[in-house]
Amino acid sequence: MSFFRDLDYRRQRMVASQIRSRGVSDERVLAAMEAVPRHLFVDEALASQAYEDHPVPIGHGQTLSQPYVVALMSSLLEVHPKDRILEIGTGSGYQAAVLAAMGAEVFTVERIKPLYQTARNRLLALRYPQVQLRLSDGTLGWPEAAPFDKIIVTAGGPEIPLPLVEQLADPGLLVMPVGRNRREQRLVRLVKRAGHIQEEDHGAVVFVDLVGAYGW
Ligand code: SAH
Repeated sequence: MSFFRDLDYRRQRMVASQIRSRGVSDERVLAAMEAVPRHLFVDEALASQAYEDHPVPIGHGQTLSQPYVVALMSSLLEVHPKDRILEIGTGSGYQAAVLAAMGAEVFTVERIKPLYQTARNRLLALRYPQVQLRLSDGTLGWPEAAPFDKIIVTAGGPEIPLPLVEQLADPGLLVMPVGRNRREQRLVRLVKRAGHIQEEDHGAVVFVDLVGAYGW
């Protein structure tokens, strides 16, 4: 089996054994994660780790989340084709590509310039034109492109940034790791519907810091 066929096989196995088996059943999420070549979103030297059950370092002290965490957060967003989704924390661009593969229009913000540049080049090369990138403090959102049907924050902060709540459409869903303790957060889903806001707890997670005006 060639190296590349082997990676395709490992990606299918990743979806079956780490994601479907742990209860993620959203077929759009499963199909997107079978399709997006996760190994191309990390350094070549780490490509063989891309389908393992853990996060992968992407430089600058940041990480690409574990596959199951990407799947869980994507399924909590209940993505429909044409949804306008704001992501805070572009990182490698993988999560944005997964959402784009589900048919969403993605707006993603990163604060570290080299990560932003690498992700932009990668998403262009892999042909994800439905992803727009921006270099700035994502805790302030992306006011010019608001409102968003869905918002996903892929870094952990002490509270949900107010500008993001304001830029969320009604109805809308926002998913973010929230924790007063920087080493552990709860995965929170905020549901906005008919003028009301509700928060749900979806378990313990560990993310890198959300840094910025409404972050650490
Ligand atoms: N979603 C990414 C992984 C994110 S790691 C992926 O699929 O690869 C978290 C990222 O959030 C890091 O790249 C970090 O630089 C970024 N980040 C942290 N605070 C931020 C902020 N205020 N605005 C934008 N990006 C931020």
